[in-house]
Amino acid sequence: MAYQIAVDGPSGSGKSTLAKGVAKKLGIMYLDTGAMYRTCGLSALKKGIDPSDPVAVENMLQTMKLDIEFRDGIQHMILDGEDVTGMIRTPEVSMAASSISALPVIRNAMVDMQRKIASSQSFVIDGRDIASNVLPNAKYKFFVTASAEKRAERRLLELNNNGNFSQNYEEVLADIIKRDKQDSEREFAPLRQVPEAIVIDTSDIGIEETLETLLSYIKE
Ligand code: C5P
Repeated sequence: MAYQIAVDGPSGSGKSTLAKGVAKKLGIMYLDTGAMYRTCGLSALKKGIDPSDPVAVENMLQTMKLDIEFRDGIQHMILDGEDVTGMIRTPEVSMAASSISALPVIRNAMVDMQRKIASSQSFVIDGRDIASNVLPNAKYKFFVTASAEKRAERRLLELNNNGNFSQNYEEVLADIIKRDKQDSEREFAPLRQVPEAIVIDTSDIGIEETLETLLSYIKE
C-alpha cells in the first residue's frame, strides 16, 4: 500500500537533500513541492505579472499549464510545454515563489496536484505545509531546521556551485530571513511544525549523519 513521508522545514535546512536520500534508500519516489511554487513564480515573472497580485495571478492560472514529469526518478517541471527545471533556482524566482505561494488560489491548485500525485504510489514529499495541511495522515512527519546563518551559507554554496554569483553572503542571509518571515506569517497554510513531528536540527551535524538519524526513526 502507498504511504507518505512528510519532510517540512524552512529553506536551506537541508530538507530536500534528506528527503531525496530517504526516498533513494527506501526505493520510493520523491516530490519537491517547492519546485511547484517556484514554477508558478517563474510563470509570473515570465509574463510580467506581480506574484502578489491575487487577481492577476488567478487569471494567469487559468491559462498556465503546469506538468510534472518523473524521468529516472528525477522531477522535471514543465511550464506551458517547456522544461524549466534548470530555471527555477535563481534568487528572483525564490522571492517570487514565496510571494505567489501565499495566495490561496495557487495553494489550492498545488495542494490538489500534490495529493493526487502522493496517492498514486509511495512518496517522500518535502515542503512547508505537508504534515500540517497536504497530508495530515502521512506515515512519518519530519521537521528539518537549522539556524538562518547556516542555511544562508549552504544556499550561497549551492548558488555558486550552479555558477550564480549574483548575491553575497549578507544578501543571501537577508533573503532567507525575509522568506522565513513571509512563509511563517502568511495567513494561509504557513510554515508550521505539527506537534507530532520528529524535529531534526541540521545546524551542526553533517547531512550524512542526519540522514542516518532520520532513517533510524523509519526503521523503527
Ligand atoms: O522549498 P523551496 O525553497 O524550493 O520553496 C520555495 C518557496 O515555495 C518557499 O519559500 C515557500 O514560500 C513556497 N513553498 C510553500 N509550500 C510548500 C513548498 C514551498 O509555500 N509546500
